Amino acid sequence: MTSTSTVPLRVRRPFDGAVHGILAATDPEAVPAAAARARQARAVWERVPVRERARVLTRLAGLILAERDRILDTIQSETGKARLSAFEEVADAARAVRVFARAAPRLLRPVRRPGAIPLLTRTVEHQRPVGLVGIITPWNYPFTLPVTDTAHALLAGNAVLLKPDSQSPFTALLAAELFAAAGLPDGLLQVLPGAGRALGPALIAEVDYLMFTGSTKTGRVLAAQCADRLIGFSAELGGKNPLIVLADADIAAAAAGTVRAAFANTGQLCISIERAYVESAVYDGYVRELLAQVSRLRLGAGYDWAVDIGSLASAAQLEKVTAHVEDAVAGGATVLAGGRARPDLGPFFYEPTVLTGVTEDMALCREETFGPVLALYRVASEDEAVARANDSRYGLNASVWSARRGPAVAARLAVGTVNVNEGYAAAWGSHAASMGGAGESGIGRRHGSQGLLKYTEPQTVAEQRLLPIAPFGGLDNAGYATLMTRAVSVLNRLP
Ligand code: NAD
Repeated sequence: MTSTSTVPLRVRRPFDGAVHGILAATDPEAVPAAAARARQARAVWERVPVRERARVLTRLAGLILAERDRILDTIQSETGKARLSAFEEVADAARAVRVFARAAPRLLRPVRRPGAIPLLTRTVEHQRPVGLVGIITPWNYPFTLPVTDTAHALLAGNAVLLKPDSQSPFTALLAAELFAAAGLPDGLLQVLPGAGRALGPALIAEVDYLMFTGSTKTGRVLAAQCADRLIGFSAELGGKNPLIVLADADIAAAAAGTVRAAFANTGQLCISIERAYVESAVYDGYVRELLAQVSRLRLGAGYDWAVDIGSLASAAQLEKVTAHVEDAVAGGATVLAGGRARPDLGPFFYEPTVLTGVTEDMALCREETFGPVLALYRVASEDEAVARANDSRYGLNASVWSARRGPAVAARLAVGTVNVNEGYAAAWGSHAASMGGAGESGIGRRHGSQGLLKYTEPQTVAEQRLLPIAPFGGLDNAGYATLMTRAVSVLNRLP
């Protein structure tokens, strides 16, 4: 699966700092050969009927469930997340690839379109594969992101070069092993572990499309590199996702949903909630309920199901989370829960943290923390909640808790996904619908029809019959123009 390599990659377990494994990182100079091999495999795969490609993914869905525990162990070992958070990846990947497999034959079939001249022009629009797709993924969801993005690219008839984060290559290699076991032809998917800065340019030089998930900062760099080659690019980037609790909400459910949305995956989730706007009438009751639920969360290192919140993934993550909270506290914010690292549990543990009194001058207010930290704000009205939720350069996910106003509020939010009476899982798990961000949260979409069709190049084939679209049968230019004026006028009156 891997190309020749030079620098060894040492992957450590966040739970205790022990080495999970060492593997050879891909040499950037080996990328062209990997690309050539992938293109060779694709030449055959492109001609495999979509239904057969879909069968490989249906088998993959079954294998993911059958290999559940091995996948969970690998994800947890590389990321330090709790088992339930790792399980979300397994369930998500298994469900998504099945949904994609079922939808692909319909979405990819050639479609008849009205021709230039009715009856004389037969027009069909095809969705041809773009060719070779590059996929760059982060460490926070090291299984489901590579699996689902790769699945869509393959279904569309492409080959894939996958570059996982250096912190989680073994999970990506396990995913590739499962693709192979499901019957994916050799060479079609190649995993290129290694550092992004070293491999990115070599990868972009070879591929026909790039799908990126990661930070906004890296997204900008890659967008410029793709622009230079004039290749398609889509990106799922960061977020500072808001949650709104209106006065008519079920407060206990809203508090439970907030806990899941802010602290699942130890808050290292692009769509997790980092700021909550709560209507004054229910603010005190909501905060009471929220803090009671936070106090019951079980934090720890463990490969069983008895832990709710795992470790942060790295020293860099711990440093950022600590810095955001310390800066907020120094500026006058109040810690209602958590607010400290837990080295007694492992090197990168941090308590689920709830703050109030966060103001504009604090980094926590607008920057993505990407950790288990939630800021609470009391608001006077729905209008104020919406205005403050929208006051961000990001626009990824939002959550609205209300008995009656959810869809109406959703329509006013400038974000890619809105979860009503849920935090993040309802929209993300709706794999047949698009997922992605506005503003600095990204470009393009994953999931849904757009998540598949972005890996295709639409091609229109128009076949002209009987008469040309030009003067014919001895008509001079003026006569042809008169005839066509009448014809266009008639066509324009048709419904
Ligand atoms: P990152 O951008 O540093 O790294 C992500 C990936 O990009 C890694 O594989 C890395 O090796 C690679 N990379 C880094 N620099 C590169 C370069 N110059 N050229 C090519 N590749 C390069 O991101 P991170 O900080 O590790 O990941 C967390 C970020 O990802 C957060 O901001 C989070 O919101 C975002 N994220 C978004 C989604 C989403 O769906 N919107 C999902 C998960 C994570």
